[in-house]
Amino acid sequence: MSKEVKAWGAISPEKTEPITITRRAPDDEDVGIDIKFAGICHSDIHTVRSEWGTITYPLVVGHEIAGVVSAVGKNVTKFKLGDHVGVGCMVNSCRQCANCQDGEEQYCYSGAVMTYNGKDPKDGTITQGGYSQYVVVDQAFVLRVPESVPLDKAAPLMCAGITLYSPLHHWKAGPGKRVGIIGFGGLGHMGVKLAKALGCEVTVFSQTYSKREIGLQLGADNYIATSEPNVFSALTHKFDLIINTVSASIPLELYLSCLRRDGSLVQVGAPEKPLVISPFSLDAQRVGLHGSMIGGIAETQQMLDFCGEKKIFPEIERIEASYINEAYDRVLKSQVKFRFVIDISTM
Ligand code: NAP
Ligand code: ZN
Ligand code: ZN
Repeated sequence: MSKEVKAWGAISPEKTEPITITRRAPDDEDVGIDIKFAGICHSDIHTVRSEWGTITYPLVVGHEIAGVVSAVGKNVTKFKLGDHVGVGCMVNSCRQCANCQDGEEQYCYSGAVMTYNGKDPKDGTITQGGYSQYVVVDQAFVLRVPESVPLDKAAPLMCAGITLYSPLHHWKAGPGKRVGIIGFGGLGHMGVKLAKALGCEVTVFSQTYSKREIGLQLGADNYIATSEPNVFSALTHKFDLIINTVSASIPLELYLSCLRRDGSLVQVGAPEKPLVISPFSLDAQRVGLHGSMIGGIAETQQMLDFCGEKKIFPEIERIEASYINEAYDRVLKSQVKFRFVIDISTM
């Protein structure tokens, strides 16, 4: 049976408020999940503010979902009632194209079905995200949360965690590699923890020194405040890999000049405004400018297992649902250490 559930939806670019949504009845392959926690990703804010294109309001965002299995379709073999599970940014894909076959469903050539503001192939509706009490997702897109990961801390791993884990892996971050992380927010702080756990030397590029102490505590070897004068001159040709998590458009030249020959700058931040670069900043040391989007399902499970084993958890601030609007304002002012997580029981 379909289910009416409480949710918190964006009704305009500026405001979210309580609404009710309908979740479809689980089909044979589906898992019904009682959502316990949902992280607030900056992508939620870009979306509700229509910075990535116009959306249809009301829309329930949230793609850092952690909860407990409360229903299973008859062909579900991966999960049973009571299991701790998570759902990230996507809930389906074509499963046939070369990328889906390679386990890179996020790059599905037909377009992965996003957890919110996507078109659900199962019932044709617009997908609604995790700021809600319950969700129905095909078992192929549900992740197992290891026992050692508390559910509230599992939520941000579903997007912030995998979005940094995937490029770190792809560009072979490991011992002896110098990695820079630009932007010390939700994604950035996971980048620091993961890169450190992989054995890299890690440098944070933040706007100010206000989070320096905690940055060093969380594993950064160096902490640069980019607003200070002349900080870049000592960093020329020092990095193998730099990951830009900044939610605004920043000049990349300075960071490209920090790369060694053949180094890589990976853009994961998704600002509304385009990025501008000079070709010479790429030519000079044959450096690469790349993008990366979340990670595949198998890789996301690998990341969760890695975080469970190494006890790599996000730093979170748990909030009630009624605080979402204020939380958005604080994210926009970089005033969160480091991820807001909504306690869905307060809905
Ligand atoms: P967040 O928590 O707000 O962190 C972004 C950080 O960027 C801030 O903490 C701040 O770091 C820095 N920043 C913000 N405005 C800046 C400015 N004008 N100049 C310089 N630095 C600035 O956001 P998030 O949730 O980590 O997400 C970051 C970005 O990644 C968003 O654009 C989001 O949409 C995108 N994203 C992409 C993917 C993907 O798959 N590619 C996945 C998830 C999110 P400091 O305070 O340290 O300066
Ligand atoms: Zn996200
Ligand atoms: Zn595909």
